[in-house]
Amino acid sequence: LTGLDIYKLLPQTNCKECGFPTCLAFAMKLAAKQAELKSCPHVSDTAKAKLEAAAAPSIRLVTVAGEGGRLEAGNETVLFRHEKTFYHRPGLFVRVKASAGAEAIEAAARALEAYLVDYVGIKLGVDGIAVEADAPGVDFGAAVAAARRASRKPLILMADQPDVLAQGAQAAAGVQPLLYAAAEANWQAMAEIAKAAKCPLAVKAPSLEKLAELTAALKQAGVEDLVLDPLAREPGPALQAFTQLRRLAVKKGFRALGYPLIAFPGEAASVDAVVMAAQAIAKYAGFIVIDGFDPAAVYPLLVLRQNIYTDPQKPIQVQPGLYEINNPGPDAPLMVTTNFSITYFAVNNEVEGSGWPGWLVVTDAEGMSVLTAWAAGKFDADRIAKAVNGCAIAGKLNHKRLILPGQVAVLSGELEEALPGWQIMVGPKEAVDLPGFLKLVWGQKTL
Ligand code: SF4
Repeated sequence: LTGLDIYKLLPQTNCKECGFPTCLAFAMKLAAKQAELKSCPHVSDTAKAKLEAAAAPSIRLVTVAGEGGRLEAGNETVLFRHEKTFYHRPGLFVRVKASAGAEAIEAAARALEAYLVDYVGIKLGVDGIAVEADAPGVDFGAAVAAARRASRKPLILMADQPDVLAQGAQAAAGVQPLLYAAAEANWQAMAEIAKAAKCPLAVKAPSLEKLAELTAALKQAGVEDLVLDPLAREPGPALQAFTQLRRLAVKKGFRALGYPLIAFPGEAASVDAVVMAAQAIAKYAGFIVIDGFDPAAVYPLLVLRQNIYTDPQKPIQVQPGLYEINNPGPDAPLMVTTNFSITYFAVNNEVEGSGWPGWLVVTDAEGMSVLTAWAAGKFDADRIAKAVNGCAIAGKLNHKRLILPGQVAVLSGELEEALPGWQIMVGPKEAVDLPGFLKLVWGQKTL
């Protein structure tokens, strides 16, 4: 709503109790999201309902939770990442089938629980397990219990029959799984299960019109937290359906389709599934369920997701300070770099891999790489000197030699002035050349 739309719904008495001189001033601040409606004690219930409905997110925020953590999906406001950051990264779930038996499910869940990889200092892993009642007569409750025994991650419970899904929901008591899925034939029964379990409910339909009808009916029945599956399992139709759904929600404000989306790319080991999953990460899934677990397929998806769901204006950073590589002693070389994660890990990994012990001073350069930070005035002689003095490295060394990145060789003179008594050595331009530099140049110096 515009400021004027909001103004029309306010009491228009200019009583100032909200802290603003007029109702119009307050309305303008509300429109700019710089004030809260509760600051006005005189707004009518009808106006409040209208304003709150207008302020609700275009895509509802839906939460699933396990004993070990929670995952939120939805509440995105844009179509493209260059417009604004994407906030709620899609949850990556691995499907296990109830027919595999409790032992196999436990083993799979244990493997997922244990899978944690390091990406530029960030720990990445899959978010949860989707347990599916894949055959008639399987003990779905036992399958869910087996997954819970081995993992504390959030769950998705998948069953076509309401009574089977109810067994799973019962076995998941105490946590908040996503229930999958209500369809045209069973939505009333599924709604009752979701309400009783206080869990979000996925809804599936082969067309957007049908999906909208079902969400409206489910909302009427009292289920607020919904997730949409447009049943598009091929790349082209999936891209089309997901884009239309996102566009309708955020551009047209079409509330009946303003919910997170769930994607099923297929077998983790197949290239097609990885491509589909990557597409779903980019556009616009809230939950992604892959069949089976293959670290070689999952790792690139996690890295892709990490990159897409990172604020491009805030580079990934490491903590400034002194870092030790390979247990350095007082004779080990001292290097300096910036706190851009990728720069730090490039330097750290090269030195660590070379076997050389080393000290690394990481300077606060607001997360920029060496050359960018230098050009922006964030990596200059004063900052480097401050970082070197601040970490009191001098007391740990038998020498006073500092290796400066070759990209900023121009700083060496100024740095010698800023660090009296220190010898500044110009290192290589690229981190990959550090091992050779340490061997040929540093090694010669210290002989
Ligand atoms: Fe207007 Fe409400 Fe503010 Fe009073 S408190 S000035 S009625 S917006």
